[in-house]
Amino acid sequence: MKGESKSVYLETMGCQMNVLDSELVMGQLRAMGYAPTDDMTSANLVLFNTCSVRDHAEQKVLSRLGNLRKPKEERDDLVVGVIGCMAERDPDGIFSKMPHVDLVCGPSELNKIPALIEEVQDGRDRAVALSQSLSRKSTPVARALEYDSVEALDLARDPAPDENVLQSYIRVQRGCDKFCTFCVVPFTRGAERSRPASQIVDEAKMLADRGAKEITLLGQTVNSYIHQENGRAVPFADLLGRLNEVSGIERIRFVTSYPGDFTTDILEAMRDLPKVCEYLHLPVQSGSDPVLQRMRRQYSVSQYIELVDKARELVPGVELASDFIVGFCGETEEEHKASVALIGRCEFKSIFVFKYSERPATVADKRMADDIPDNVKRRRNQELLVAQEALATLANQQRIGQQVEVLVEGYSKAALKAQEAEQTRGEEVSWRRSDQLVGRTRSDQIVVFNGKAEHIGGFATVRIDAATALTLHGEIIVAIPGTPQSRRAPSRGASLPVLDSAS
Ligand code: SF4
Repeated sequence: MKGESKSVYLETMGCQMNVLDSELVMGQLRAMGYAPTDDMTSANLVLFNTCSVRDHAEQKVLSRLGNLRKPKEERDDLVVGVIGCMAERDPDGIFSKMPHVDLVCGPSELNKIPALIEEVQDGRDRAVALSQSLSRKSTPVARALEYDSVEALDLARDPAPDENVLQSYIRVQRGCDKFCTFCVVPFTRGAERSRPASQIVDEAKMLADRGAKEITLLGQTVNSYIHQENGRAVPFADLLGRLNEVSGIERIRFVTSYPGDFTTDILEAMRDLPKVCEYLHLPVQSGSDPVLQRMRRQYSVSQYIELVDKARELVPGVELASDFIVGFCGETEEEHKASVALIGRCEFKSIFVFKYSERPATVADKRMADDIPDNVKRRRNQELLVAQEALATLANQQRIGQQVEVLVEGYSKAALKAQEAEQTRGEEVSWRRSDQLVGRTRSDQIVVFNGKAEHIGGFATVRIDAATALTLHGEIIVAIPGTPQSRRAPSRGASLPVLDSAS
């Protein structure tokens, strides 16, 4: 294939960590001469970056792979790969169900993708890279060597000149040591390891030089970040302090926080550091202590509420989001009602609700019965969403008349659809729809308003004139246009997928 133009279709499922992994993998593929395409059927290379947190996500990958059976029979040049958590968790299952898959690669081995593709193209049957040596059974030396290889992917980060980096993710930590009984992440991403603060700061500087204004620090339990530097521990609050000094970066966010490890110094950093945004994603998973105990979450409901209250006291204007699992093993109606009550008590900005599904190898899978019928899980899911929607609508309507500052991320989904219709069918689309922009406040409120292309990538003050549970609508009052660099493409942030999370 050397010298010919090659295309890659890369589809990402799951959490923000996977979104970042896909960006870094795409950087490697670009260096190999691959151009990204949205057309799976014509691509030379098809990769699925997968999630194992829920069964539904794995079934979706199998169905997408099934669609490639025929093209694979018809085209010798097509390479099909599964990367990420599902590849790590069940490589044999993937190969036995989908024998046309050429490569599987675990999330900690992604720097090996170029070599794996070459192996397949050189005629070897299947190429496999898994992180067995990251398992807790391996020696410390083996794990240290393997970790160097993991780091290579982040250290080689080099965004393409046409890549929009306005809002960028930076990994600060990999893996997880918590072993919540429902969660597969410690098995697919290995033990918790924090990256050196100096590397993270250098990455932030590089991204700022390329046009980044907002960075989101990623970790499975990001607030438990700690790294030894010159014999001294650098905790998460100190890392925030160092990043606050990076010139060009205007906003700093972090996800996902583990409530049991949340220390007051982080809240103080949020209060005192001007660039750290007033937003916390704090997954609680249940409002019932017995359920939290069965999940092996290391906090109680009252400790969670205490943390929420302290965040509101110390960080003015902070908004909170949370995750809930409904229908976990043995969840009674009373336990479910406790989750509904917690939503009322905490007044979250938004919540993500997931129906429990068994994940192989987890403690819940081995020792507990998945005994809540699916129709009950669906009803409970709906009840949490209804409770949240009522509260969020009320809270957002109280913002009508307020002025908020947003970072303008790009065109809204409706505007992009309208523009596409204009281009493909030559239809006239009203100015109001095709020029609708979307931005986000520091506290992560989504704001939709009409504006101009030059506003994208800049900051704007918007007066709110309407509100729903999830979105604020308004009019621009003042705008500081983005630079040509930050307007290069509709931002990723404007079209972020709904992501599965686990923490
Ligand atoms: S839910 Fe979060 S904290 Fe618990 S094991 Fe999974 S990744 Fe770790």
